[in-house]
Amino acid sequence: MKFGGTSMAGSERIRRVANIVRRQQAAGHEVAVVVSAMAGETDRLVGFCREANPLYDPAEYDVVVASGEQVTSGLLALTLQSLGCKARSWLGWQLPIHTDDAHAKARIEGIDSEALLASMAAGEIAVIPGFQGLSDAGRVTTLGRGGSDTSAVAVAAGIGADRCDIYTDVDGVYTTDPRIVAKARKLKYVTYEEMLELASVGSKVLQTRSVSLAMKEGVRVQVLSSFIDDDATPADEIPGTLIVSDEELEGLDMERQLITGIAADKNEAKIILTRVPDRPGAVATIFGPLAQANINVDMIIQNVGRDKGETDVTFTVPSADLLRAQTLLEAQKEAIGYNRIITDGKVAKISVVGVGMKSHAGVAATMFRALADRGINIQAISTSEIKVSVLIDEDETELAVRVLHTAYEMDADEAA
Ligand code: ASP
Ligand code: MG
Repeated sequence: MKFGGTSMAGSERIRRVANIVRRQQAAGHEVAVVVSAMAGETDRLVGFCREANPLYDPAEYDVVVASGEQVTSGLLALTLQSLGCKARSWLGWQLPIHTDDAHAKARIEGIDSEALLASMAAGEIAVIPGFQGLSDAGRVTTLGRGGSDTSAVAVAAGIGADRCDIYTDVDGVYTTDPRIVAKARKLKYVTYEEMLELASVGSKVLQTRSVSLAMKEGVRVQVLSSFIDDDATPADEIPGTLIVSDEELEGLDMERQLITGIAADKNEAKIILTRVPDRPGAVATIFGPLAQANINVDMIIQNVGRDKGETDVTFTVPSADLLRAQTLLEAQKEAIGYNRIITDGKVAKISVVGVGMKSHAGVAATMFRALADRGINIQAISTSEIKVSVLIDEDETELAVRVLHTAYEMDADEAA
């Protein structure tokens, strides 16, 4: 079981979480619980780091931000104990949860689960802070924002859990953000592939890495609400959205729609380098240093060179990395040989996702037409087998999502 920040925000909510956990144990399960920091806490801690040093050392950032989950894991263990349950917390370094040393975005390399399994077998509820791990160098690491989801899936895989229930402030995965589109529908099932695309394009329900890990390890994940009362449908009856493999889904869901979901991501920033020399190796000199600095580049557009032997290169990076990327590229100006660097943090990426588009034409055309009809300008496009994404002005995000939800006939009242 994993509980997100909203579910852990304050003593009263932690008590409700403890009750949900206790019921699951009473239903005959051995339970491991992974928790997030209280809602807003990680942002607050990140703020302190930025104030201390805008170009902060990620290793020290990890020391600061990992503390949020330490607090909630201890508090949940205490609360469970107050309800008469046996409970014990296990910090990332105590298990340990091994990660690489990419501070602030570390990858889990393995979990020593013996201690956990022994504790659970002895009837204790194991409480594990999400987000944190231990590098080979013996330093605290964190897994990147939203990393507790990945911790939960990793723990589930490590102990061979039947299911990983991710309790959050929504009752499942929706066709799009219900706060933007009132007629969004809850999905009963989503494939790993679709969820991966939805997660990676900013549907903030799950961290992307948690989904790829679940896919790799075959962990069945359910997203469900923690804001439930005692007579709510038991988790074992799958009241939320179940994330499963393509094969399992085929047997489960007969009425697949063409498009499964629409996601928006405002955490992207656009960088344009003008007049880059159009010769072999030019883009390698741009993206090499970014890769070395662990900056993920997403959409990339390079125009065909014009007669001058120059071309513009446009790409996106996470907003949080914009300043670092810009600093790096400015330092490389001579080596790359570009003319100007133009950045824009006020962009959003809108994506439509669905395994159905593998076998259907016209999905992109519908998207471009619908956006054009509302005068929304497309700044960049990228596609995969099951996704079409466009980059637009951030101010038009909500409008674009609504327009597309209607264009693909996904609105709740139109559903079969
Ligand atoms: N507390 C961390 C964050 O806010 C990790 C998590 O909650 O998943 O990003
Ligand atoms: Mg989260």
